[in-house]
Amino acid sequence: MTKHSLHSLLLMACCALAPSCSAQNAASNGEQALTDSTTTVNKSEAEWREELPHMACFVLREKGTERAFSGEYWDLHEKGTYQCAGCGLALFDSDHKFESGTGWPSFFKPAEGSAIVEKEDDSWGMRRVEVTCSACGGHLGHVFEDGPRPTGLRYCINSAALQFVADSTAVQGVRYD
Ligand SMILES: [Zn+2]
Repeated sequence: MTKHSLHSLLLMACCALAPSCSAQNAASNGEQALTDSTTTVNKSEAEWREELPHMACFVLREKGTERAFSGEYWDLHEKGTYQCAGCGLALFDSDHKFESGTGWPSFFKPAEGSAIVEKEDDSWGMRRVEVTCSACGGHLGHVFEDGPRPTGLRYCINSAALQFVADSTAVQGVRYD
């Protein structure tokens, strides 16, 4: 084997191992963007796949769900803000987080303003209300009507869709890193 062909072989192996969101990609079904005219952070699905960690991409861009008790934040009790892992928009406040026992971070209300968008979701034979980030359109989780007072709502959110910023290190604005 020549040096050159060995090099191409290694290159191919690396490409095959490169983390990507999933096999289902833009090439096969067009750019099935979750963003629309109301979102302010508009990137192609290819760009999202490139910059987001695998799990965040799976949840935010493909409406995936992480396994219960597997995420980073379901058992976090620190004070701070939960931002969108995709675009940095402040979505939830630790003051509104509660113990739901589900294994997913749960909040009884979102942060002030219109940080999230709610829409009906009939997938998996269930009628649920999907919660997405208003800025980038990323999927966050679902909201159910079995939460605690005062709202009676339970925002069941994937840790992978969130980025926690502790109060002591909080900075205003969008995170670019
Ligand atoms: Zn977002």
